[in-house]
Amino acid sequence: MWRRRSGIDGRTLARRLGCNKQGFSPNHKGTLGQEKKPRPSAREGCKATILVKMEKTGKWVVTRFEKEHNHPLMITANGFNTTGDKDKKIEELTMELAHQEQLCSAYREKLFAFINNVEKQTEELSSKIEVIVDNIRKLEAERQRFTHRSAGSLGL
Ligand SMILES: [Zn+2]
Repeated sequence: MWRRRSGIDGRTLARRLGCNKQGFSPNHKGTLGQEKKPRPSAREGCKATILVKMEKTGKWVVTRFEKEHNHPLMITANGFNTTGDKDKKIEELTMELAHQEQLCSAYREKLFAFINNVEKQTEELSSKIEVIVDNIRKLEAERQRFTHRSAGSLGL
């Protein structure tokens, strides 16, 4: 993996993640004049690469993204390319999924309980608000009556 570091504080400023077939194998060409067959895993000059760099703001940005490989892609990571491992992985993922679904329904129940609670509180609140509005109306009527009476007594 290639990276560029800051000369000041040694922070990583840029990073390139390339395909493991990027570049050419050092023994791709016969060094002593004899032709060597490249190994299947040899580097093939693949240009697939992601180039990221850190901006002055501290945000990482992708400056270059080359997604085209010049070779077929093979799943070799973590050795999950054998059938037994794959089955095991699928089993693990299935179990994980079931677990997530359980969690999900638990959350759903909690959410419904919460919503019910909110609805109940909203009802209570709206009945309280009705009372307040009612009181305000009464006060308003009272005030108007008072104003009229004052105006009347002043001969207006
Ligand atoms: Zn590649």
